[in-house]
Amino acid sequence: MSTLAPFAVNDQNSLGRQHAEDRPAYRSEFQRDRDRIIHSTAFRRLEYKTQVFVNHEGDLFRTRLTHSIEVAQIARSIARTLNLNEDLTEAIALAHDLGHTPFGHAGQDALNNCMKPYGGFEHNLQSLRVVEQLECRYAEFPGLNLCYETREGILKHCSPQNARQLGMLGERFTHGHQPSLEAQLTNLADEIAYNNHDIDDGLRAGLLEIEQIREVAFFETHYQELKSQYPELKDRRLTHEIIRRMINRMVTDLIDSSRHLIASQFPQSTDEVRKQRQPLIGFSQEMRDANLELKRFLRQNLYLHYRVHRMTTKAQRIVKELFQAFMENYRLLPPEHQGHYQEQKSHDDQAGAARSIADYIAGMTDRYAISEHKRIFNPYQSIDT
Ligand code: MG
Repeated sequence: MSTLAPFAVNDQNSLGRQHAEDRPAYRSEFQRDRDRIIHSTAFRRLEYKTQVFVNHEGDLFRTRLTHSIEVAQIARSIARTLNLNEDLTEAIALAHDLGHTPFGHAGQDALNNCMKPYGGFEHNLQSLRVVEQLECRYAEFPGLNLCYETREGILKHCSPQNARQLGMLGERFTHGHQPSLEAQLTNLADEIAYNNHDIDDGLRAGLLEIEQIREVAFFETHYQELKSQYPELKDRRLTHEIIRRMINRMVTDLIDSSRHLIASQFPQSTDEVRKQRQPLIGFSQEMRDANLELKRFLRQNLYLHYRVHRMTTKAQRIVKELFQAFMENYRLLPPEHQGHYQEQKSHDDQAGAARSIADYIAGMTDRYAISEHKRIFNPYQSIDT
């Protein structure tokens, strides 16, 4: 492994874990974090959680699991080139979506609406809750006891109100500071991954046509470039080759532009990185504009496509009805979750009780949520299957 830059996170400058532990014998601290994430229950559930398409729509679409692996791949390439901590970026990337509800953003919006009277629901905060509290695997502590820097990277966004309750981890949102460069780059690797794979999935689903995406200048440039090189190229090979080139172009732009940004400020430590008013990892202005155009196109033509909209509306109804049913009658919950609910109730904590139901729903995979909904609402459905 190449030498880390002075502004990279490393085992020595890490702010450590919540519960002190002996150092790993043959791994770095962040390799240990990555391994704990991979072995968690929440990580396995990502396989059956949706990105844009509901899980049973087809086997070839991205799921949260394949998305997280794509993000990790892109983030690691960038980290390695910039002499940043590759293990940390991998850990953040693999954990960044652990708190997602079933049915992607539709599920998150529905659960957030249900939880409005009880402090709301944010998937970034939920990812943190998963690794800090909900996973129970270790004798000595709840959660995964990850290093500060991994948790800092997981918490991409946070409302000022919630940030105030998070202590040191929330301070950057109230002080206008930055997270580590590893966290900054993983956030953008996420964006590169989903903008590109949503185009691929949209084409595969037949919701988008190549001709239609050509209105996006960034796509059209690569389309023209390829057509002049390989006039006969079409269908899937054409699509994949365009997407491959777009990802490469975005990654290269991010690396070049971030190098300039870092050189302009010349931070000498992670502390100096965090005190910056602006991020030091970012695209060039040209790429930011291209990205924005691509995002607008996807929103208008894919996320708001009537077929996607029908799926998301159904998904929101499922989440809302499950939440209402459990709130009205907690005895419908499986025993373990009844326990969590009652414990909060015994402290007269209505928000905590609602939160325990939100934890149960957020942990569901798409197909589990669908069957749980059937078990509760469909009189002809067996309650056991
Ligand atoms: Mg993501």
